[in-house]
Order: sequence, then structure tokens, then C-alpha cells
Amino acid sequence: MIDLKRNSKKIPVKAPGHRTRSTSIYTPNQATDFKISRSKFSDFLTCPRCFYLDRVRGLDPPGTPGWTLNETTDLLLKKEFDQCREAQVPHRLFSAYGLDHVVPFKHEEMDTWRNSLHGGLKLRHKDTNIVLGGGIDDIWQDTHTKELIIVDYKSQAKNRSVDPVEYLEDPYHEGYLTQMDFYAYLLSGMGFAVHPTAYFLVCNADRSKEDFNKAMHFEEALVPYQWDSSWIGSEVDRMIALMNQREIPAPNESCKNCAYAEQYSQALHPQTEEKVIEEPQTQQLGFRGYLKTLLSGETADNRKP
Ligand code: SF4
Repeated sequence: MIDLKRNSKKIPVKAPGHRTRSTSIYTPNQATDFKISRSKFSDFLTCPRCFYLDRVRGLDPPGTPGWTLNETTDLLLKKEFDQCREAQVPHRLFSAYGLDHVVPFKHEEMDTWRNSLHGGLKLRHKDTNIVLGGGIDDIWQDTHTKELIIVDYKSQAKNRSVDPVEYLEDPYHEGYLTQMDFYAYLLSGMGFAVHPTAYFLVCNADRSKEDFNKAMHFEEALVPYQWDSSWIGSEVDRMIALMNQREIPAPNESCKNCAYAEQYSQALHPQTEEKVIEEPQTQQLGFRGYLKTLLSGETADNRKP
């Protein structure tokens, strides 16, 4: 997608391509605290190279537009669940799922934990300077066991009804499961007893209606998920080891962005057979090689593709 950098007046300005806030950039082996969000941890799992270039080398990747419709369902659900939280009663959805003993969790930090930008759940990783964080959608409580239940609101528009098994097995939802495992890791690490079942509250927009008529209708479904956070700690260790190294890791070969960047580079600077023979070897590096050379600090003008 095309992402233009704009100033506070929404006027397009030159995009520097790198981050300007030094607190967003980690220096290998730095002693001061550094925050890693749930989404950056997911980036690390998807492509260590992009994560590294972003967090350690300070490259500013193109963004995506806000998901305002999805955010609106989240916002309205939050209001709805807050009413039940205040009254400490089960939500209208619960009885159909045998959850009459569950209520939205009431805690003075709830708003902070739900604020992914300026708050979130927080946990220092072991005795390191890495502070893990993540804004959670909601937490409910089993009134029998007092355990906390992790909840994530999801919005979608699919023709078929939500099937819990299909939902969890969908490869496109793999990141959702990671998200739950990560929140469970944080909340448990913060000292709370966490119920083994988390829930996705899925709002599925009905596309079969005859008209819009100023309203969109949704099917609501709770998808239970047995979280497993046993793997998170070792992956965070691996992530920290990566952040402390100087070498740039390998890319994800399925990534269309990298493939595009490579094709883009080749389209602008075609390497004919004749040229390859005549030019210095560095001309043959291609985009990935060039990027590696550039970021390892060995740049020279004649290495530009
Ligand atoms: S493969 Fe390339 S563009 Fe894609 S996520 Fe990794 S470094 Fe970024």
C-alpha cells in the first residue's frame, strides 16, 4: 500500500524512512529499560529481520490505515461490558455458553491495562531490562475460582457462521492465538491466577441482508481457547539475544514487501549480464545484499544498486 507521511496539518512531508525518537530504538546491550509490545513480539515471530531493522536499526516501516469499523465494535463492546462490570453481573451472552458464574473483572487498573498506547499489562522479563507490554481488550472473572479470563474482541465479515474449531485452526488466525498466549504470560507473570480458557468474542457482520439502511447486523459468538504460554519465555530470550547482536537476520521469504522491494530495486537498476561482468562485485548484491551492506556500516557510493 502507499503510505504518505503527513505533518500535524495532514500535509504530505518528506518521509525520512527512519525513526526520529531515540527511545524507540534499542542499542545492543543497552542497560536502560526498553519496552517491547505484544505487536512487536509478533513481528519478531513473523520476521526477525523486519523486527530487528525496526527496533535496533530504527527503520520506520510503512503503516496501515486504522481499522475504524473494527475499533468501533471494540469501543461499543467495551461500553457494554463496562455496564456489567459496574453492576458485577454476567453479560447477556454468557448464559448461552454456561458462563452464568462469570462477570467482567473489576479492577482499578482496568483502563490502564486496556490502553495499548499509554499503558497495557506490563511485565519485566526475568531480570533483564526488557519490559513486555500489551493492551488487553477485556478481562472477565470466574466468580467460583476467582481466576481471571482473558478476552479479545474480534470483528469480521464472513458469509458462514462462526465455527470455533475452524476459527482456531485458520492459519490467518495464528497471530490471534499468540496474542492470547502472550497476554496469559503477562497476566500470570503479574501474579494473577489465570483461567485456562480464554475467549475470543467474535462479531461477524451479516452480509446476507437486502440493504444497509444505516445499520450493520452482527452475529456474536464466543470462541473458547485453551491458552499455552509455556513457549513465550524462551522466544523472548531468543528475541533479546537477537536485539543484542550486530548481524541482520534472514528475511521471511514469503513476505511480499521484501519481494516487492527487491523487484523495485531491480526495475530501477537493471543488472544486465554485461554490467555484472564490468561492475564491481558489490553491484551484484541485489536488494537484500545491499541492505545488509548498508546497515552493517560498510557503505560506499559505488555499492549503491
Ligand atoms: S521479509 Fe523483508 S519486508 Fe518482509 S517483514 Fe521481513 S524484512 Fe520486512
